[in-house]
Amino acid sequence: DADVAMYQAKANGRNNYRLFSHEMRASLQRQVELEEQLRYALEHDELSVFYQPKYCLNSDQVVGFEALLRWQQSDGNWVSPAEFIPIAEQCGEIDAIGRFVIEQGVAQIAKWYDQTGIWLKLAVNLSPSQFRDLGLVDFIGRTLKQHQVSSELLELEITEGVFLSGHADVEEGIRGLNQLGVSLAMDDFGTGYSSLSYLRRFPFDVVKIDRTFIVDLQPNTKDYQLVTAAIAMANSLGLAVVAEGVETEQQLDLLARIGCHLVQGYYIAKPLPPEQAIEVLCVESRQLANAT
Ligand code: C2E
Ligand code: MG
Ligand code: MG
Ligand code: MG
Repeated sequence: DADVAMYQAKANGRNNYRLFSHEMRASLQRQVELEEQLRYALEHDELSVFYQPKYCLNSDQVVGFEALLRWQQSDGNWVSPAEFIPIAEQCGEIDAIGRFVIEQGVAQIAKWYDQTGIWLKLAVNLSPSQFRDLGLVDFIGRTLKQHQVSSELLELEITEGVFLSGHADVEEGIRGLNQLGVSLAMDDFGTGYSSLSYLRRFPFDVVKIDRTFIVDLQPNTKDYQLVTAAIAMANSLGLAVVAEGVETEQQLDLLARIGCHLVQGYYIAKPLPPEQAIEVLCVESRQLANAT
């Protein structure tokens, strides 16, 4: 891509070439900077975990959360995980960061139980390169034991990228996770090329329908048919379905009508620090949008 763009920029004349090359240098420089800063972020407590509720439309209650990493640098700036996770993957820092999220998240499940008497499920994202961390499965097992949290309360979200990454250890990693008793969710479902074949081959418990199918959801559209079909398929395979990125009451009502009972999105609540996330537990869905 870069080569093609460079070629086109060149063809457009020398000034464009210069402009492009300047932009490219700036973006590369930012990447190198972030990579350096990322190494210190963990030690300097710049990373934290936010929690976004998963809401059940059948029981009208929050049934769990997704852990989402946040990075606030010392100058107050927030860096998006969409930007820094790929960098962490490249420079190898993802192993330590990934373990940090597991540790924080599992400790938080125990803390919430102490505060409320309710065991809440937590979903944690795993990126493809974490499957190269051969001690990861043992680490997760130890962490659950240490905090006396049952493995059924932990769900790991992986995208299709895990299977495309070419790491030979993926199958073994997934088998290990399955033996631990944690659940497995397919994240961003519908955006890849062969999600169906992975659903068949691996022991998934949950599919999360990607936000891009929800954003323009309206009756009798293609998205509507696709989401309806995905839910029917998941139901017949005995998988739970979560719709991501629900932002409006209309989307919520449509999803309820199609038979999608688990939803996540700004309409319910944004990702929140743990103290605020737990407050959402006591609020009903219709009030949530106003409360958060
Ligand atoms: P994801 O796992 O698909 O997470 C969903 C993303 O959508 C989150 O973005 C969340 O804040 C955002 N979101 C939730 N509801 C809505 C909504 O109603 N509207 C819109 N527009 N967005 C919504 P976030 O937190 O920026 O994370 C982006 C991605 O970074 C995640 O996508 C995940 O792939 C990755 N990520 C985040 N935390 C971690 C982590 O701890 N480990 C790993 N490996 N990846 C992570
Ligand atoms: Mg996710
Ligand atoms: Mg997702
Ligand atoms: Mg997504």
